[in-house]
Amino acid sequence: EKLDQGLEKTKESFFSKLGKAVAGKSKVDDEVLDELEEILISSDVGVETTVKIIRRIEARVARDLYLNTAELDQILREETTALLAENNLAEIRGFHIPQGITKPYTILVVGVNGVGKTTTIGKLAAQYKANGKKVVLGAADTFRAAAVDQLKLWGERVGVPVISHGMNTDPASVAYDAVETGQREGADVVIIDTAGRLHNKVNLMNELSKIKRVIQKFVPEAPHDVMLVLDGSTGQNAILQAREFTKATDVTSLAITKLDGTAKGGVVIGISEEFKIPVKYIGVGEKVEDLQVFDRKAFVNTLFK
Ligand code: GDP
Repeated sequence: EKLDQGLEKTKESFFSKLGKAVAGKSKVDDEVLDELEEILISSDVGVETTVKIIRRIEARVARDLYLNTAELDQILREETTALLAENNLAEIRGFHIPQGITKPYTILVVGVNGVGKTTTIGKLAAQYKANGKKVVLGAADTFRAAAVDQLKLWGERVGVPVISHGMNTDPASVAYDAVETGQREGADVVIIDTAGRLHNKVNLMNELSKIKRVIQKFVPEAPHDVMLVLDGSTGQNAILQAREFTKATDVTSLAITKLDGTAKGGVVIGISEEFKIPVKYIGVGEKVEDLQVFDRKAFVNTLFK
């Protein structure tokens, strides 16, 4: 039900438009498909992804010869779930630590300021801890005093240690300390916050590669996950950020926040399709439990219900 509430605006906007598009029509024809195309694009699904979904539905129209508009929701749901499945083949389970890794499981969190990076880290820490895992946080976004303070606040609230050297210190040194501490104290998970300076891509790349280099001294395969946090309510802007970050570093998972209070929830489908990077978490509110493991079936079922 939380997902239902969180995606309410996206659903409302999508279905009121879809309802209008099929009003008085019984058959899915070119006109309905054109309207559907516009609706999907205006729901931030993205042009290319929309075209793919429309092609899939066209193929079904061609195969079944006659498609009832009353069945359109169902067909959309099936085709979109199938599309997401193709992109999330390596579906990673959230709040999960793979077997056989060198501990601690190390997550490097990247994303521009304001997308909900710190909050997502706090929520992740809280949920891992609630699952009985030992967590250490690293405040390597040393560019902003507020980011360091906010992470410390989360650490206190959740009851997990936050490694910090203060503002303007070397992010790689914080990351080193965090992973070293994590390993020494037998932590299960180390989550490292990094600065979101996308406007200076060379700096960003250098900083991230330095962080990776130093933490590999303890954990050769670290980071196990490079998670990009995107603000879903910014729609196409989130896609632009994803393009930049994936050019700067190897992003291995996505967290898409602030899907509550926006009608742009379709962006999750567009991002998944364009980048073929598994969406691991979605944020549908401010509370800890509002960071949810992304479940494509539940997501699509909620969206097209
Ligand atoms: P950062 O600059 O990327 O670290 O962003 P913050 O973590 O400080 O988050 C910015 C704001 O977004 C804060 O007020 C958060 O409470 C809020 N926020 C983060 N995730 C969500 C979400 O899923 N839903 C809502 N409604 N707010 C969120």
